[in-house]
Amino acid sequence: MPKKILIIGAGFSALAAAAYLAKAGNEVVIFEKNSTIGGRARQLQRDGFSFDIGPTWYWMPDVFERFFNDFNKKPSDYYELIKLSPAYSVYFGNNDYITIEDTLEKICAAFEKEEKGSAVKLKKFIAKAQSNYDIAIKDLVYRPGVSPLELVTPATARKIDQFFSTISKDVRKSFKNPRLVSILEFPVLFLGAKPSDTPSFYSFMNYADFGLGTFHPKNGMYTVIEAMRDLAIDLGVTIKTSQNISEILTENNTATGIVANNTAVYGDIVLSGADYHHTETLLPQNLRQYSETYWEKKTFAPSSLLFYVGFDKKIENVEHHTLFFDVDFAAHAHEIYDHPKWPENPLFYASFPSKTDDIAAPEGKEAGIFLIPLAPGLEDTIELREKYFDIIINRFEKLTNQDVKKYVIFKESFCVNDFIKEYNSYKGNAYGLANTLFQTAFLRPNLKSKKVKNLFFTGQLTVPGPGVPPALISGKLVAGLIQKTS
Ligand SMILES: Cc1cc2nc3c(=O)[nH]c(=O)nc-3n(C[C@H](O)[C@H](O)[C@H](O)COP(=O)(O)OP(=O)(O)OC[C@H]3O[C@@H](n4cnc5c(N)ncnc54)[C@H](O)[C@@H]3O)c2cc1C
Repeated sequence: MPKKILIIGAGFSALAAAAYLAKAGNEVVIFEKNSTIGGRARQLQRDGFSFDIGPTWYWMPDVFERFFNDFNKKPSDYYELIKLSPAYSVYFGNNDYITIEDTLEKICAAFEKEEKGSAVKLKKFIAKAQSNYDIAIKDLVYRPGVSPLELVTPATARKIDQFFSTISKDVRKSFKNPRLVSILEFPVLFLGAKPSDTPSFYSFMNYADFGLGTFHPKNGMYTVIEAMRDLAIDLGVTIKTSQNISEILTENNTATGIVANNTAVYGDIVLSGADYHHTETLLPQNLRQYSETYWEKKTFAPSSLLFYVGFDKKIENVEHHTLFFDVDFAAHAHEIYDHPKWPENPLFYASFPSKTDDIAAPEGKEAGIFLIPLAPGLEDTIELREKYFDIIINRFEKLTNQDVKKYVIFKESFCVNDFIKEYNSYKGNAYGLANTLFQTAFLRPNLKSKKVKNLFFTGQLTVPGPGVPPALISGKLVAGLIQKTS
């Protein structure tokens, strides 16, 4: 029987769930606290520049295709996808960088130049990564995380050792050159944990990187949010913005509605795409499944300090995506995960979408996004933000051999306090709960509340985990569970 479903939040996972639930014939209404939709993937526009506030790497195009195919659509019905060539570059010193091209053959050649014999090893490594991708992304991640048995298949049984070794160990077994090691460890950073805490099975991220490639949706990642909004609206979903949810209403341990801008709204099902910890604070204490101690003990993905900068010139010697790994990777990771503090020597990432996309900046100018990963929960002040802008921009000038600071037209920043204020994020984490061995699949917070009937969750703190493709999958999984169990 069709139901009235109230959804909290309008991020990728909530929009995906809304589309599936509406397609199944339900009445679906989304309530988003901010004035625009998209959640972590919102857009900033200023003085003719446009920036994606959150995600900038479009990986795993097959997951997006599969999503739109479920509605008899294709991504190209909504947006144009550009394969980046080269995919990105990685700086290791002044004027010293490795360019990652857009095919495995070309990447093998770059590896071989760095370390003799590494091309053959890379092909072998990526073949294994591809086999993991076929098992994980085409099958396992589409299981709802309700039972450990979901992970037991003939294919995973053959790979059991890969759940008990780590990416870090695996990469080091084949490659000695520290530059190649850090390039191969980079993709799992998207999963939110240190490579030394991420099971080797997650090497499927390396296949996403080198095997499938890096894409840019023309006009930016926000176009994907707009595509999903249009799809959801076509299917009959109502989207309401500037609607803060302050309470989930219950009766006899059953969700009956929400309080939106101080007004009660009733429905049959409540689904939250907002951060899990925050959602549970909308319930009375006795109806929360997870204690503060539970959250305290979890490994969260990092927070970030971000800058969105308009430059009054074209920036040279960088690609659309450029990583700055000129300092010690392990030392920075230690300051994120083991001994949380502002990093002594931060790694950082920079994106220049206007290298590919004219819409991102006025002619002759460049849009720059800079990201420093940080431990969640750090003190966040204007002075600290300024200090770190100076650190990275001075390094950037030296490494890429050019003046940029004096060409800054404006800069905006986003950090721990903004993640809390804008998204009700636990400790200001940027992208949810890390995918470590003990935070995988059925070991992650449940899609369905065990204490409140008709209350469900989706998003990067549930299954399968952080990132845009997992958010689309999470929306599909929770919609399936709602259809099956309510
Ligand atoms: C800086 C950054 C860079 C990233 N880079 C990449 C990348 O390159 N590639 C990639 O694939 N992924 C990337 N990610 C991760 C990706 O963006 C996220 O995993 C994904 O967008 C999360 O979607 P979500 O639906 O789970 O949550 P969210 O996008 O956080 O959506 C939750 C929504 O709930 C709303 N909400 C919260 N509380 C309430 C309330 N009380 N009432 C009403 N609404 C509420 C929030 O405002 C928000 O809109 C990045 C993330 C960040 C932050």
